[in-house]
Amino acid sequence: MALKNGVKKEPDDVGKWLLMLQDCDFEVERLEYSKTTLPERVALTDIRERMRDMSARTAEFRVKKDAITTKQRNLQMEVNTVVARRKIFDRKMSSKKLFSTREIEAMTKEIEGLTVRAEQLQDEQFELMLDLEGLEQELGELQTEVDQLSTRSDQLLKIANSKLTSLDAKIQSSLKRRTAIEQHIPSEIIYRYDTIRMRAGGVGAARLQNGKCSGCHLIVTPASVASTRIAASVSICENCGRFLIEDIWNSSS
Ligand SMILES: [Zn+2]
Repeated sequence: MALKNGVKKEPDDVGKWLLMLQDCDFEVERLEYSKTTLPERVALTDIRERMRDMSARTAEFRVKKDAITTKQRNLQMEVNTVVARRKIFDRKMSSKKLFSTREIEAMTKEIEGLTVRAEQLQDEQFELMLDLEGLEQELGELQTEVDQLSTRSDQLLKIANSKLTSLDAKIQSSLKRRTAIEQHIPSEIIYRYDTIRMRAGGVGAARLQNGKCSGCHLIVTPASVASTRIAASVSICENCGRFLIEDIWNSSS
C-alpha cells in the first residue's frame, strides 16, 4: 500500500492525529532530556570529582605523616643514645677515680659535644612536632569537608531520585497517550512517520507554514503539495520526506 503521490487517501483528520503524535514524541524527548540534565546530577558529578581530589590529598598527607613519624622515631633513638653516653661520662667525672688533665679535658669536650647535639636534637624534635600538628590540622579540615560533601551528596541523590521517579511517571503517561493516539492513525502512516523521525532529528510530521516545510525550512510548491497529498490536511515534503500538515481546522472554523 504505497503512500507515494497520494495513491491512498487517508481520513481527513489524520493530520490532526499526526501532529498530536509528534507533540507527544516531543514531550517524551523533552522529559528524557530533563532526566539527563538534572541540576542535581551535575552537582553530584562535581562533588564526586572533589571527593576524588580530596581522597588523593588525604593519601598524600598520610604519606607525609608516616615519614614524619619515622623521623621522630629515629630522632628519639638518637636522643636515647646521647643521653646514655652523657650519663656514662657524668658517672665517670663524678667518680672518685683520678684522671689526668688530658683525660679530663677529653671528657669535658665530649660532654660539651653531647650537650650541643642534645640541644640540636631537641630543636629537630620540636620542628617535627610542629609539622605533624600542621598536617593533622589539615587532615582534620579535609575530613570535615569530606563529611559535609558526603551529606550534601546524599541529599542531592535523594532529590534527584525523586525527580527521576516523577519524570519517569510523566514519560509513562505520555507513552500511554501515544498508544491511544496511534489508534487513530493507519499503521503504515505510523511506520513511515517513525522511520522519518528516526533519521530526521526526531521530527516525522512538520507543519506547512507560509509555503514552507517547518521540518527542512524549504519552500514547498502547491503543485508538490497537490501531487503528494494523502489526506485533506496531509502531504509529503519532497525534500525531507516528512509528513506535511496543513492547519485546515483553524482556518476553516
Ligand atoms: Zn521538508
